[in-house]
Amino acid sequence: MQNKKNESKAIDRRSFLRKSAIAGAAFTSIGIEGSKIVQAKTQGNKSTKITSYFPFRVIEHSSIDDILTIQPDYKRMHQKNTIFSRSAWDPEMGFGDGKGTVASFMAVPHMIPDAIAVGKEKGWGPVEQALSDAAVFSHNAGTGFSAMGMRNAGPFCDWDVFAHPHTKEKYQFKSPEEANKYIKRAVQFLGASDVGIAPYDQRWIYSHWFNIAPIMGIDIENVKKPIQEVETEAKFPFEVKSVIVTVHRMDHESLMTPGYIMNSSTMDGYSKMAEVGAKVAMFLNSLGYKAIPAGNDTGLSVPTALQAGLGESSRMGLLVHPKFGPAVRIEKIYTDLEIAPDKPITFGVKEFCKKCMKCADECPSNAISREIEPTPAPNNPSISSHPGVTKWYQDNEKCIEQWEKMGYGCGICLAVCPYNKPENWVHDVAKLAVGMPVGRDIARILDDSFGYGKLDPDKVDKFWNDED
Ligand code: SF4
Ligand code: SF4
Repeated sequence: MQNKKNESKAIDRRSFLRKSAIAGAAFTSIGIEGSKIVQAKTQGNKSTKITSYFPFRVIEHSSIDDILTIQPDYKRMHQKNTIFSRSAWDPEMGFGDGKGTVASFMAVPHMIPDAIAVGKEKGWGPVEQALSDAAVFSHNAGTGFSAMGMRNAGPFCDWDVFAHPHTKEKYQFKSPEEANKYIKRAVQFLGASDVGIAPYDQRWIYSHWFNIAPIMGIDIENVKKPIQEVETEAKFPFEVKSVIVTVHRMDHESLMTPGYIMNSSTMDGYSKMAEVGAKVAMFLNSLGYKAIPAGNDTGLSVPTALQAGLGESSRMGLLVHPKFGPAVRIEKIYTDLEIAPDKPITFGVKEFCKKCMKCADECPSNAISREIEPTPAPNNPSISSHPGVTKWYQDNEKCIEQWEKMGYGCGICLAVCPYNKPENWVHDVAKLAVGMPVGRDIARILDDSFGYGKLDPDKVDKFWNDED
């Protein structure tokens, strides 16, 4: 047993040295580009700043319209047309009674008898399922399934409480900038991995809110009185002035482990969103301000997070955070407190995505665009596409059909992305190659060489046996 352990350590060392040699080559190739960045900083180039997000060159922009091309005919999205909402009402989804996807997302995979792996393959056993059920507990109990777009449905996102604070007097910050500083410090203390402030922008609010609970017969009576209307024009109960956007890092090791363990990473992220969102709303209430915490409900998360300076959009449609990559969940807290907004950023994701395509290669349902350049509309439009922004469009129907087959949220694209790295120096080398234009050609090769993004069933044993 001991010998086997030593042998595996020796192999690890050999493999480490091989990787380090490749890493050295990468450093050599990209070193010149690295010194250019320092020069830009010392010359006082105001549009470029080096942040703590080593090794990326992060550029701040004055508005989201500088980083996204939004067509003049862009229209706000009706929440009814999101893929989760459609699985509740649209027979065209082809899932029998149309309830499969939503059911699977509610941590009841036994409702999907034809799920391909449940109970049969490594990572899909009862212990892993128990882990996933535990991970999602605070989300389900606290928000009444905000992950499925349900708003105002639980104690952690109760509009009757958080949008109507009893405090009589509003605390006055000296300036919106001071509010930015205090709010962000408090939110990080309360448990967010990162936080940014977006201005209120109605373009990202659903035109109509949609409630799946009455259609699905979901009983949330024990949590809160359910909203009865199925759809309603989006109208906040107060004037929203700012949006606090939080990101919650997903556990890297579990994300790379197939089955329910991978899913546990997502579920834990949803629970963290719910818990921290409620605490932030309570903080604002205690200062006399109104708040509405929202998970996947109320408005679009990715453009709001872009606006809050928390990352860049990517080929697979997810936000890529400069430190945590795409492995984050996003929560929004709408408030009537005026907070100075942060600036949108770019750090080379779009350029890298043009060459990388790893998510498109690995997607089991071929749902990710293989176009080199982002496009203003999808090639295969559907009512869930929501055109009008130049970006890479996914085939949402193909994606969700894959979830249905697996019996749970897939997430392979997220797991394999080269931006999704643990933090240590060897991994930083691959990140460095990703970050620099000169290194981009070799970054995907380097990433594959390190074995990143491989969903290996043997990782299930490693997950349970690792004591670190
Ligand atoms: S979640 Fe899975 S099926 Fe959907 S786009 Fe990503 S890899 Fe493809
Ligand atoms: S896997 Fe590659 S192409 Fe896909 S989002 Fe990540 S960096 Fe972009």
